[in-house]
Amino acid sequence: MTEYLLKILIVGDGNVGKSSFVHRYVSGQFNKTYKMTVGVDFSVKLLHWSDKEKVRVQLWDIAGQERFISMTRLYYKGAMGCIVMFDVTNSTSFQNCHYWKQDLDNKTMLPNGRPIPCILLANKCDLSQWAVKAESIEKFCKANGFLTWMETSVKDNKNVGEAMRRLVEEALSLE
Ligand code: GDP
Repeated sequence: MTEYLLKILIVGDGNVGKSSFVHRYVSGQFNKTYKMTVGVDFSVKLLHWSDKEKVRVQLWDIAGQERFISMTRLYYKGAMGCIVMFDVTNSTSFQNCHYWKQDLDNKTMLPNGRPIPCILLANKCDLSQWAVKAESIEKFCKANGFLTWMETSVKDNKNVGEAMRRLVEEALSLE
């Protein structure tokens, strides 16, 4: 049995659903009032990936430090994957994904010198008031070196597991 430890980050503006995503993924729940304590660093989920492989996923949330749109190198250190998240009803949170991706790529890379695999998540897709067009997301995703983008609803548990699976798959392929 091989056991992998994967550090995965989640970044994006405040209120887009990052803490809820981590909580949903790790505990399977969605609480409207749930808020991770500021300063808590990571949550862990153990995946029985295959007969021969276990994966311990460390999911790091920036927990309240979003206002900086810039994190310390220590936060990024050793990451094997990253989620950049925005809220589909908030176009500013989409525009800021540019800075989040840039900050990530400026401060860290894989041991082989390539950028950290990164997935773009368009969260709160259950809400009807989308402020961002799917074609703009597609364009942005391609232009900025994301693996892919997906619409998610942490509330309705849509694409949460799928997005993480995609990222874990990619990270493992680089091991
Ligand atoms: P963070 O600041 O990025 O960590 O965002 P939170 O996880 O604290 O979520 C901000 C707010 O958005 C909370 O009120 C959540 O209940 C709500 N929220 C999170 N995900 C969704 C979603 O998929 N759909 C809807 N409608 N609300 C969501």
